Amino acid sequence: MISALSLGTLAGSDIIIGADYRVVFSSPELQPAAGKLADYISKVTGNRLSVSGDTDPEKAVILQTDGGKIPNGFNIAAKGNSVFITGSSLSQTVRGVYAFLEKFCGINCFTSEITVYSLDEIRIPSDTDYSYAPYFEYTDTDWLSPKNTEYSLFNGLNGSQYRKIPAEYGGTVSYISGFGHTLTNQFCSKDKYFESHPEYFSLNMGRRKANQLCLSNPDVLEIVTEEVFELLRKKHNPEADLQIVSLTQNDNIFFCRCAKCRAIDKKYGSHAGTMLEFVNAIARKVKEAGYDNVVLDTFAYRYTRAVPHGIAPEDNVCVRLCSIECCFSHTLDDPSCKTNVSFMKDLQGWSEICKRLYIWDYCTNYSNFTGIFPDFGTLQKNMQIFYEHNVKGVYEEGNYTMNTCDTEFGELRAYLISKLYQNPYRDLKADRDAFLAAYYGAGGEYVGEFLDIITENAPKKHLGIYQPMTSTLSLSSKQIAECDSLWEKAEEAAEAEAKINVRNSALSWRYWKMKNRASEFSDSAKYEENKAKLTDDINATGIEKWYESTAMTAFFTSVYQMLFFSLYPVINSIVNLIYRV
Ligand SMILES: [Zn+2]
Ligand SMILES: [Zn+2]
Repeated sequence: MISALSLGTLAGSDIIIGADYRVVFSSPELQPAAGKLADYISKVTGNRLSVSGDTDPEKAVILQTDGGKIPNGFNIAAKGNSVFITGSSLSQTVRGVYAFLEKFCGINCFTSEITVYSLDEIRIPSDTDYSYAPYFEYTDTDWLSPKNTEYSLFNGLNGSQYRKIPAEYGGTVSYISGFGHTLTNQFCSKDKYFESHPEYFSLNMGRRKANQLCLSNPDVLEIVTEEVFELLRKKHNPEADLQIVSLTQNDNIFFCRCAKCRAIDKKYGSHAGTMLEFVNAIARKVKEAGYDNVVLDTFAYRYTRAVPHGIAPEDNVCVRLCSIECCFSHTLDDPSCKTNVSFMKDLQGWSEICKRLYIWDYCTNYSNFTGIFPDFGTLQKNMQIFYEHNVKGVYEEGNYTMNTCDTEFGELRAYLISKLYQNPYRDLKADRDAFLAAYYGAGGEYVGEFLDIITENAPKKHLGIYQPMTSTLSLSSKQIAECDSLWEKAEEAAEAEAKINVRNSALSWRYWKMKNRASEFSDSAKYEENKAKLTDDINATGIEKWYESTAMTAFFTSVYQMLFFSLYPVINSIVNLIYRV
């Protein structure tokens, strides 16, 4: 009979990283990553391995960068008694190191505070030859832990919005300008030019206002071009994998309707044509000047979302398509969801003409930051759809104002989104369950059951990002009681920090009940008392904002959201009328 122990012995050719191993870096730039790898290995096995720059391939974990052999990505391979981690670039070798830590050393970084070590031995099967190419070149999201460097390295986040990854660990893909809405705020600044040159700005109903630029004005093109070059002189890093300069419209719909702009709009059948003509002209100059790792970014957002005809972005132009109008209880490819059908048409069109298409997506309720946003059933499919439409980068905008509390499932969302960026086809349920166990301890399984209920009962109609709480879940009284019971069980089962995490996450459920006058909020005599208690509990976590902007804005955006879905054909016609070229 072969016991488990003897099976382990039989697999004698497996590599076991013992005290006699070394970590080797094949070029000096990899020394910091080699040191980091040795640190983590010592936390797993207790052995602090030496780190050296020699080329002796015996009993070593060897880090090397070889752009020639590997097109884009990294490879982890066992050869003889050594392990080779080879990347196509420094950043990819570093990614390879963190994949090695997760895959072979059993280390998972669930939040900036929770890193789980599930092994005490590092064993690499002798036939290991694992290759990985990133699904997306740029990834970012909000919430808390994504701001942490180690968390970002473990979970593959590389955008510059929230984190600083030092150059020796591969750096970030950086927006070296502002992140968005930059044209009137940064490049042809309204503060600098509007008073002396109102003709640089958009014409609406006979008046120039500093809402957007008049993109057909040659002086505007010259000013923005000069500013872009000035920025590049200051911030260009030739060593970076990729740097992005954002040339993006302001956050309003008052694009220029002067005769010249309208004629260009008409020529291309979309305002995006006028925007692209403008950005392309600057992109050609940037390319001519030899900035090979620089890309100019522009939005396909609201009035520029429709795909133009007869023009395509230059190779060094990135288009960021924004899904703000979409529904998140139906997947983007759901043919029964008209607003998503319309978005898919544009996604398809842009994917056909763009070399570099990014997505700005949304995963929270902006009229109720703390409230339940049951989009867990669509996150994975939508990420697959992005990838299958040639999307190269994704920013999942969450609750960017979140302060000290997990609400609403912020840490879970950030983790799942990061994992989907790493591989949209992975077993996300397994990732979710591993997270729940790490974050909520013994309470995790009950929180998981709650998540299943809210996912199954996401609105059959639609779910927008300003959805009133009264239409975010369709739950019977029995289900509401069941959810209450699950949160009670979760709190009872969880211990120490995990109990605090359960209580914090339960705030979202209590918030939903308050807005729906359900459960303890159904007794009108005690409503105010219970609301005050909830408010105190939310405030105690340090949450500073309950919604984007003001209470009035939150109210009106919610009303608009309801009307948008209920009266979609009418509202869509009105919007199209406004956006008409
Ligand atoms: Zn104009
Ligand atoms: Zn829908």
